[in-house]
Parts: sequence; structure tokens; C-alpha cells
Amino acid sequence: MPEQSGGSGNIEADYLVIGGGGMGMAFTDSILSETDATVAIVDRYHQPGGHWNTAYPFVRLHQPSAFYGVNSRKLGSDHIDATGWNQGLFELATNSEICAYFDQVMQQRFLPSGRVQYFPMCDYVADRRFKSLISGEGFEVTAKTIVDATYMNVTVPSMRPPSYEVEDGIDCVAPNTLPAVAGQYDHYMVIGGGKTAMDACLFLLKCGLCPDQISWVMPRDS
Ligand SMILES: Cc1cc2nc3c(=O)[nH]c(=O)nc-3n(C[C@H](O)[C@H](O)[C@H](O)COP(=O)(O)OP(=O)(O)OC[C@H]3O[C@@H](n4cnc5c(N)ncnc54)[C@H](O)[C@@H]3O)c2cc1C
Repeated sequence: MPEQSGGSGNIEADYLVIGGGGMGMAFTDSILSETDATVAIVDRYHQPGGHWNTAYPFVRLHQPSAFYGVNSRKLGSDHIDATGWNQGLFELATNSEICAYFDQVMQQRFLPSGRVQYFPMCDYVADRRFKSLISGEGFEVTAKTIVDATYMNVTVPSMRPPSYEVEDGIDCVAPNTLPAVAGQYDHYMVIGGGKTAMDACLFLLKCGLCPDQISWVMPRDS
């Protein structure tokens, strides 16, 4: 059920924001700070934060926490890490810290303002209409402006099957499962040339594997 609804059926708001990830949250935060407008946020997840809700457990921001999030609330405390690979540098928030942060923005700023209605576990359909993924109940928003905060279309490996064929007998897992299988094999092959693959390699090294036990398949241009 919607966390704070204007009653089933018609929802009144100036803006309809589709997506409660970093983009939709930052937009709504600025609207609250700079205007008197009202906002309805619709999102498929059970809490704000977007793709961070499905991220692998060992992911962190790749930038100092203070540079991420909404304008009105700082993420982190400008802590400088004293140990580990980030020693001497500003803290990098974990995904659970980021989800907790966005939840606090929602619970402590957006909803108490009385100007934001939040509809988690809801799917935007079309033409200002959305429906609850739990009850199937339909809603329509009387908003002049629709803000599509799904535009980035972030897709992480746990959201889709591999885009290549996997031989029988080979276990192919998304990085989300890596902590559960990290001690089970002599050799690991990491596929992909981005931050996720780098994080997977570093995670395995941190678990005590030797570099010889890890192969990394990545495009030449990476
Ligand atoms: C592993 C990883 C690490 C990253 N690290 C950093 C970093 O360190 N710094 C940085 O600046 N950026 C980083 N990024 C980029 C990151 O994608 C952006 O910072 C930002 O979080 C993206 O937010 P978003 O709101 O655009 O997308 P999302 O987080 O994907 O949010 C979109 C939301 O839209 C919702 N949605 C989609 N379709 C519908 C629909 N029909 N109905 C209802 N809801 C819908 C989804 O449920 C989702 O909650 C990282 C990305 C990844 C994948």
C-alpha cells in the first residue's frame, strides 16, 4: 500500500516523479527547497535509493560520500579512512549506507513536509497512471508535470541473465552471490571491464585469493 496516499484513485500533486532513485530523490529535494510545489513519487522498490537496493553487498561509492546524494542533507561525515585500500582518503559510502541515507531523506524530510506523497512497490503504467504491485490497485495523478527519473535505466548484473552462453558445469553468478561462493573454487573468471568487475577482482583478492587464481576478461578499450 502507498506509504502516504491521497486516497485510492486520484492523487493530487504538481509533479509526478517516476523513480525514487538518486535522480528522483535529488529532484524532489530541490523542488522542496526552492518552490511550494507538491510531489508524488512512484517507485517499484520497497524503499528509496533505486538500483542501490539491488547492488552487490561489497559495492561502495567510487567518490567521496560528501559529493553524493541530495542537496539538503550530507551523506557521511567527511571521515578520512585510517585503514585499508582507501587509507588517507575521504570515506566511500557502502550501499547499505546509501539506502539508509535515502530512507532518512524520505522519512525525515520529504514525508514530514506534507508536500510529498510516496508510492513504493508501484509501477508507473502510462498517462499519469500507476498501479500497486501488491494489490493491483490503480491510481491516477493530477500532475501538470511528469518527471521521468528512470531515464538512466541502470541495469546491474543481478537484474538480468548473462548476455553470453554458459557451458554446462560452469557456475555463473552475479557479484551479489560472490560472498556466498568465494571459498568454493580454485579459480574465478571475472567478466566485464567496468567498476563492478574491478570491485569483484578486489573483493576476491581481499578474501585472500592469489592473483593467479583470478582471470579477468574485459574489452581492450577498458
Ligand atoms: C554499481 C554502481 C556504482 C555506482 N557508483 C556511483 C558513484 O560512486 N557515484 C556516482 O555519482 N554514481 C554512481 N553510480 C551511478 C548511479 O547509477 C547514479 O549515481 C544514480 O544512483 C542513478 O540514479 P537514478 O535515479 O538515475 O537510477 P536508479 O537508481 O536506477 O533509479 C531508477 C528508479 O526508477 C524506478 N523505476 C523504473 N521504472 C519504473 C516504473 N515503470 N515504475 C515505477 N518505478 C520505476 C526503479 O525502481 C528505480 O528505483 C553507480 C552505479 C552503479 C550501478
